Amino acid sequence: MKDKHTVLFEFASQPHLVRLAGRVQHYTWGGFEFIPRLIGEDNPNRQPYAELWMGAHPRFPSIVDLGLPVNLDEVIAVDPKKILGSEAAALFQGKLPYLFKVLDVRQMLSIQVHPSLDQAQKGFARENRKDIPLQAPERNYKDPYHKPELHIALTDFWMLHGFRPYAEIVRTLKAVAAFQPLANYEKKLSKLVLSEADKLRRLYSAIMEMPQAEVDAVLSRLYDQLAQMSARGTMAKRHPHYWAWRAFSQFPPNAGHWDRGIFSIYLMNLLHIPEGRGTFQPAGVPHAYLEGVTVELMANSDNVLRGGLTDKHIDVKELLQTVSYECVAPKLIKGRQLGSIERIYAVPFDGFQLSRLTLPPGKEYKSRMHHGPDILLLLEGEAWVHSLCLSLSLDRGDSIFVPANVPYVLRTTTSAVVYKATTAKG
Ligand SMILES: [Zn+2]
Repeated sequence: MKDKHTVLFEFASQPHLVRLAGRVQHYTWGGFEFIPRLIGEDNPNRQPYAELWMGAHPRFPSIVDLGLPVNLDEVIAVDPKKILGSEAAALFQGKLPYLFKVLDVRQMLSIQVHPSLDQAQKGFARENRKDIPLQAPERNYKDPYHKPELHIALTDFWMLHGFRPYAEIVRTLKAVAAFQPLANYEKKLSKLVLSEADKLRRLYSAIMEMPQAEVDAVLSRLYDQLAQMSARGTMAKRHPHYWAWRAFSQFPPNAGHWDRGIFSIYLMNLLHIPEGRGTFQPAGVPHAYLEGVTVELMANSDNVLRGGLTDKHIDVKELLQTVSYECVAPKLIKGRQLGSIERIYAVPFDGFQLSRLTLPPGKEYKSRMHHGPDILLLLEGEAWVHSLCLSLSLDRGDSIFVPANVPYVLRTTTSAVVYKATTAKG
């Protein structure tokens, strides 16, 4: 049997298509069925399957089959120029610039925000200087990269995205009886000559830095109000009350204290996204996934700053410096159809691009001459991928890594839906 060094060297001298096994993250908020069914695993003990990672992130690299299993980041490191293409290798420092995921959100995730490249580089260096271990729970910056995110829903999907228009926030504070102390604070702000962004910054900072006793008082009142509404059955999913009530049950008081992340549900845009649509989260835009299944493509980073609804580390000071205090009119990403098969979801950013390939029986998809590296994930149906003198069958949940510029053709006799992650210049 060949050793690892030999198979890596052989692959780098003639890169070709290779099967890839993603890595599952069993975070507690994950669903029990979608991901196990997708990758053909039984889940008799109903473990949560939250995320399936496909990529070369050093903490959880995917594994490729070179006759023996090898981590994708090691494969790329042997000859980045050849495997990523010389342009991508130079632009992204010899690393795969994206991380491709499937997420199954059963319970809402933390309110979070991602840093810009500059903030990430400085934060990573600062925490290194302080000798905070990379795996330490209080570590904010696990790598020196930004983490813009694109996601496209695979089912009906609910999320929070960006701050609501300021006037709407003010209306909500006035309309919900429990928020009277916040409405009073806002009234004082409204008398000052401040830009809307400054008012929002002060309001959000006041909430995030409010003494816990005050947080508990306001949220206990809100809890009582929502308990009555819930008993009357008057809560609609399109209203923040519904999600606040869910947050109250998902994050019960810890030592008698409520999670202040619940306020953010009322400050942010609540989106209901149909299958095939999604959003893009650039640096600074606060967001939270609430429910549904989605594919996500992001820069190859794990840098997250959290603002509540989580058991994980929250660093309020760092968070308040990272959030962008702009009210966002959320734009759903619909993609652009290119021919009859490919729908491209482009983002204004150097790094990655997502496509959905919908193949009817008898049709084929041909890769472009210069492309990738690509990761293909078959989500529906079955297909064959042909390349040079290699043919691989793809069933539901199978994924493949295609080194840069290796030509391939996808064919199906039934029908198939394939999501393709690739590199792109924004
Ligand atoms: Zn995020």
